[in-house]
Amino acid sequence: MTRFNGKVAIVTGGAAGIGRGCVARLLSEGASVAMIDLDSQKCQATASELHAPEGRLRTYTADVGKEAILADRIRQVHKDFGRIDVLVNNAGIVRPYKSTHEVTEEEWDRLQAVNTKGVFFATKHVLPIMMAQKSGSIVNISSVAALLSFGGIAPYHASKGAVRAMTKNDAMDYAKYNIRVNAVLPGFVLTDMVKDELETLYPSYEAGLVTATAMQPLNLMGEPSDIAAAVCFLASEDARYVTGSDIVVDGGYSAR
Ligand code: NAD
Repeated sequence: MTRFNGKVAIVTGGAAGIGRGCVARLLSEGASVAMIDLDSQKCQATASELHAPEGRLRTYTADVGKEAILADRIRQVHKDFGRIDVLVNNAGIVRPYKSTHEVTEEEWDRLQAVNTKGVFFATKHVLPIMMAQKSGSIVNISSVAALLSFGGIAPYHASKGAVRAMTKNDAMDYAKYNIRVNAVLPGFVLTDMVKDELETLYPSYEAGLVTATAMQPLNLMGEPSDIAAAVCFLASEDARYVTGSDIVVDGGYSAR
């Protein structure tokens, strides 16, 4: 498929997991991709593993929770590629695994800085570029945690609910510029984040994997490519009539 020929996409948190899956799928469909990630070594390693065609993948190091540096990187992406058609707001963290009365202010603030402000900052600084182009598609990675409760991760639930609500606000405000804003809500996707979660919350990773898999009606763990498929649908012209929507990709977990 060549749905993204000539298009430029930014993926935050693109060096691993779901973000990496999105980078790979966008590249395979013809996009030029800017991978923005906190971890510069992982960025370099992932970039060399993906074997992107010459000039179609660049890496940028930034903490999405820091506005000035992120804005600088977005300006640099625009300078390097000349346009920005797609923004995938993917970077996120889940820790701490604590009950609400145990969460410190510092832990709350750090999680919101990455998961909530990170989406706000990237969107804020990409929007003027898309408004000038009179086109663009923003896909925010929320979570089924925006719809239902897992327990023990209140800051994460708050952030993913906020991202889902911000998606709908921005869809309303920027439709007049031909900018669409949608969200993907993944369930359990086998990434480093979920591996860490299973190791931490269950007697062993293997035991956690069996339990988490069985919780899903399809009896499957998601793969980053499952989320990337939904992201690329929303980012593409196939979704030209879709804005302010959620796509839940969770093996049926939230259908209960
Ligand atoms: P992951 O931990 O496997 O990868 C996250 C990537 O983001 C890493 O490369 C990391 O370096 C980068 N990152 C972390 N903090 C950053 C920051 N401050 N600035 C820039 N980059 C940063 O995570 P994942 O499982 O791939 O999750 C990706 C997104 O999907 C997150 O927003 C997460 O909340 C969401 N999500 C994941 C699942 C799942 O089951 N894995 C389910 C629902 C939602």
